[in-house]
Amino acid sequence: MAKFTPDSKDRVKDAADVVEIVSAYTDLQQRGQDYWGNCPFHDERTPSFKVNPRDKLYYCFGCEASGDVFRFVEEKEGLTFPEAVESLAERYGVELERESEDPRAEEKRRRRARLWELLERTAKFYERYLWESPKAERARKYVTERGLGEEVLRRFGVGMAPSPWDQVLTGSQRAGFKVEELLAAGLAQRGRQGGHYDRFRNRITFPIRDQRGRVLGFGARALSPDAQPKYLNSPEGELYRKSHTLYGIDRARGPIAKTRRAIVVEGYTDVLALHQAGVDEAVAIMGTAITPEQVSMLAGLTDAVVLALDADRAGADAMIRAQKVAGGRGLELRVAAMPEGEDPADMLQDGSADRFMGLVDGAIDLPTFRVDVALGRGELGSLAGRERVLDEVGPVLKAMGETALGFDELVRKVADRLDTDPSLVLARVRSAPDQPSGRASGGGPDGEGNGRGPRPVAATLTPRETRERALLAMCIAEPAVGRRFIEQLDDQHLSSTGQPALRWLREHLDKPMAGLPRDDARLTSLITELVMRAESEPASEAAMQLNFDLLEQQRLEDGISAAQKAGDYEVSTRLSSERAALTDRIAHAGIIT
Ligand SMILES: [Zn+2]
Repeated sequence: MAKFTPDSKDRVKDAADVVEIVSAYTDLQQRGQDYWGNCPFHDERTPSFKVNPRDKLYYCFGCEASGDVFRFVEEKEGLTFPEAVESLAERYGVELERESEDPRAEEKRRRRARLWELLERTAKFYERYLWESPKAERARKYVTERGLGEEVLRRFGVGMAPSPWDQVLTGSQRAGFKVEELLAAGLAQRGRQGGHYDRFRNRITFPIRDQRGRVLGFGARALSPDAQPKYLNSPEGELYRKSHTLYGIDRARGPIAKTRRAIVVEGYTDVLALHQAGVDEAVAIMGTAITPEQVSMLAGLTDAVVLALDADRAGADAMIRAQKVAGGRGLELRVAAMPEGEDPADMLQDGSADRFMGLVDGAIDLPTFRVDVALGRGELGSLAGRERVLDEVGPVLKAMGETALGFDELVRKVADRLDTDPSLVLARVRSAPDQPSGRASGGGPDGEGNGRGPRPVAATLTPRETRERALLAMCIAEPAVGRRFIEQLDDQHLSSTGQPALRWLREHLDKPMAGLPRDDARLTSLITELVMRAESEPASEAAMQLNFDLLEQQRLEDGISAAQKAGDYEVSTRLSSERAALTDRIAHAGIIT
């Protein structure tokens, strides 16, 4: 896809309200020109997350998450950079211009836009039909009997597909859509005698949307009891892929990021019932097992997922695949076992979510759950039975990984129950077959799924890194004095991360954020951090001098040990006396570190 022009990216950035965007994920309080809140990227009780509305930047003093408004949307909404630009442009009404585009790519983009439009207007048509047509009386009765109110049904755009064979077909053709487009969107299908007809007829329709709220397809429940299948979905196609989609994700995305938890259920009506009861972080997988792509999508939003589904019914292989992807992305999968014969919607019939949330809060991690299931139904009294348990738990524990928290405990638990040695269990885990690999794919057709790894935990800084960051931030805060220090610094003073920042600041000390190379994530994030620190930490020439001297001291020490190693005593002696003079000066400056 062709790139957006720099000018249009700037216009989007100017228009975007970073405080409003971040506020969807955490509550912000104004302090001076900036806003502060609890960090939406790590768990904390006291706010160390700062948002600068002028430059549209954010920075966390706890975990060092940082970036501009685009980066925030990329991270929190699981989008690629172009998607983040597009989504903000849409939201703030900015028209994007693209640099001249490859005609084929442009053609493809136009086509997708048309299919989305077709699906959107069909969703609207179904929705109107449900509320306005006398023929939808039975459908309205059905949803009401499920305890679903009009407000939540409208929020999710639930509708009804009428009975005739060609209502959508003819209506869409009249609006200028081709039969081929109706087929591609999964709204029409070919008849056996040639000719075409509507795919969805006499069914309650649930529009399935992507993270940005675009309709990809429909799930549709039969109204007459003898109609087959009970649930009919859009066919897999150019836009809709079941394994890459989570029902309700467009509405649940913000709440998931805010509560730092996703609740995964099986059906459309479970999602509606939960949202109606105020559990806004619920999504559905439209099946029994969560896929690696769905895990990846959620990993972009949170680090904890509770599976409120019949985990016993879901295939063990599928669970193991999901566990592998989750483990690799730093995501914890927990299982809230539903009472037999009840689904989440049943548990909310009395209008309260308490009983359901009790189960969610008591959810146990997926490996423990699977091990318990295997131990619970295994015939531990016989050798063959114990062997089968080992065969079953081996791949589960292997997918978990030996370094995972709780791994040793589970191995011991299995050994205890099988009355054998933990080392034997461990050997079985190591030799367990690898299940079909759960590759964390990039996700949907346009990379919707978000293939990024987990956010690295802020590394502990070395004393040198701490000093260089303090010094560089102060140089930005007081550029008139700072320039002198920037000129005196060279690579030998700095760590390997500090060096590119120094090179950048030599050229851009007055406007460090302007024109940062987007493909250099490390530089961008370090400069952002420095700029944010510059705004909130005091800077003085004395403090700058001290930090500089300490870096100089470190440089001399490095030089001395290198010279000694090389046997160059002349250099070593010279550097040692320089160091002594410097140490003296530091002491006399009256500041002790
Ligand atoms: Zn943080």
